[in-house]
Amino acid sequence: MNRNLTDKDLVAKGSALVATARNDVVAQARVALRWARLTFGDRLVVASSMGDEVLVHLASEAAPGVEVLFLDTGYHFAETIGMRDAVVDRYEVQVRTVLPLLSIEAQAAEFGADLWARDPDTCCAIRKVEPLERGLQPYAAWVTGMRRVDAPTRTDIDVVEWDARRSKVKLNPLAAWSDDDVDRYVAAHGVLQHPLRKIGYASIGCAPCTRPVAPGESPRAGRWSGTGKTECGINT
Ligand code: SF4
Repeated sequence: MNRNLTDKDLVAKGSALVATARNDVVAQARVALRWARLTFGDRLVVASSMGDEVLVHLASEAAPGVEVLFLDTGYHFAETIGMRDAVVDRYEVQVRTVLPLLSIEAQAAEFGADLWARDPDTCCAIRKVEPLERGLQPYAAWVTGMRRVDAPTRTDIDVVEWDARRSKVKLNPLAAWSDDDVDRYVAAHGVLQHPLRKIGYASIGCAPCTRPVAPGESPRAGRWSGTGKTECGINT
């Protein structure tokens, strides 16, 4: 990494390169990932829930050998753990699994059973937010699978941005992708798909807090349904 560049310079440089891909969203993602790998080397990491299949596929091709951070909350669907294992087998990435500091049993002893049902913000803070912050520490730049169309809270994300709270470069290579872009890429590249997609799960998180969505419903409507909660806190 060129130490003479400021954080602002880095983001401007990455953004300028992404702009050369114009409206080709696949090219944008590839350019961003290649630039980030070249710039940050082993200090680049991809954060994946294993429900963002296109992101891991793209990263394995554009940044082979890159580390992928998977937060194992202890509440994942068995299918999500199966996806993690399939990614390890199939793709040229290094998956690093990060666990919360408290087991589910220790959390229940301290906060009571099924904290997710009574206080999902605290449950997410323990099982997702703290592990992510700890997991990201060694890295200078991180990659998410966020898209602008995912939620009203995400409409202003850029492909390359400065994460001021964490003092890291943050990449959202899929920022401009539509649902059709995702479907086209999956079909064209034979991307591994999370098995729950076939039965209506559009956005996949922890099992107690995720339900399938009906046709026409927002993909995020299946997350923390009926609670008013829309984000786990790792992307805010
Ligand atoms: Fe807990 Fe639900 Fe958050 Fe998972 S998504 S950490 S189960 S509140």
